[in-house]
Amino acid sequence: MKKLIILGCGGFVGSHLIDRLLASGEYHIEGWDISFDKIAQHRENPNLSFHQRYINADTTFEEIEPYIADAEAVISLAAICTPAQYVSSPVKTIHSNFIDAYALIDLCAKHKSWLMHTSTCEVYGRTLSSYVPTDDYDDPDLYEQREDETPLIMGPSKNHRWSYATAKQLFERYIFAHNSENGLPFTIIRPYNWFGPRMDFIPGRDGEGVPRVLACFMTALLDGKPMQLVDGGDAYRTITYIDDAIDALQKMLEGPKNSRDQVFNIGNRGGEVTMKGLAHLMRELAAEITGKESFLSHPIEDITGNKFYGEGYEDCDRRVPDISKAESLLGWRAKTNLRETLRITMADYFERYGRD
Ligand code: NAD
Ligand code: UDP
Repeated sequence: MKKLIILGCGGFVGSHLIDRLLASGEYHIEGWDISFDKIAQHRENPNLSFHQRYINADTTFEEIEPYIADAEAVISLAAICTPAQYVSSPVKTIHSNFIDAYALIDLCAKHKSWLMHTSTCEVYGRTLSSYVPTDDYDDPDLYEQREDETPLIMGPSKNHRWSYATAKQLFERYIFAHNSENGLPFTIIRPYNWFGPRMDFIPGRDGEGVPRVLACFMTALLDGKPMQLVDGGDAYRTITYIDDAIDALQKMLEGPKNSRDQVFNIGNRGGEVTMKGLAHLMRELAAEITGKESFLSHPIEDITGNKFYGEGYEDCDRRVPDISKAESLLGWRAKTNLRETLRITMADYFERYGRD
């Protein structure tokens, strides 16, 4: 049985990864998180040990270190990763994405343990296209994101939006630093808007605050409130089904020769949509899933980013991954299209939270 450590195992990605890895019967997992609600069904599984703790550099690594030396891999998922918190709690965001977490890199380097870290496509920040005077995205060299070539472009420091992306970027750079100075084996994963059941929470029902866009739009549909389009809903996202993303993680774990010491974009190029397009598609699918035609005219309203998130919001304009590395080294590409991804995900939300 291969031993794995997963930090942040109780979140959206962690819960799907745990489902998949436990089903394979090949792994024993030591999992850390603050909450295990999303993986409660595995509580009795002898191949999963829960450590209910807040991870920070000073204390918890003493507890994690004994497990690191003989782990096949250490998978780090723990993070604050909702834009509303980047703007309202930038100190907490930087702590969570770098200060609380960097000691993990030191420990993995010390023990030469393979660190698989989920970074984010947000490290690319804004596209070059958004800074040059063209009126369209006509040159892929100015917007397509390539892991080892594309520059990382953040806005000014006063805009807290970038607290997350810069902390993630420094984390990546610290991994590269330990790799070149101390031979740390690593894989960096840059997820592109992975969507699926169990993503985030519905405010007022099983969480508080502002979740990511999928749960924001679902809350509006469930509660009969307007879906809100931030700054006109012109921003693009590339939406990827969680099961496809988990396929990629599994391929990385199973093929260390090809996945070690690499950065991978994991995104579904065909799943690109503007937020306005997403809102319209979700209305249509809500009607299809529930059989209620009234969803087709569900209200959609505009709101500014500063009003929705608070001062200091700025947006990533577009995220188009070059996935040729994932294709050639992992044999991976997304299989599930945008409509199907949303249909499966929204059906789960309606079943979980729907009320007549
Ligand atoms: P999530 O918020 O659902 O899960 C994160 C988990 O980490 C939560 O269960 C949380 O309790 C835990 N956690 C956070 N800080 C902790 C701490 N200090 N100690 C213990 N537990 C802690 O997020 P997710 O969508 O599952 O994302 C997982 C990783 O993937 C994150 O690193 C995120 O930045 C990255 N990512 C995800 C996406 C996506 O589309 N889901 C996109 C980009 C990046
Ligand atoms: N957004 C929106 N309405 C909402 C929530 C988010 O228009 O109710 C927009 C947000 O401004 C961004 C996109 O949706 O352009 C994706 O936001 P998300 O919170 O999912 O995180 P991100 O992809 O920026 O990391």
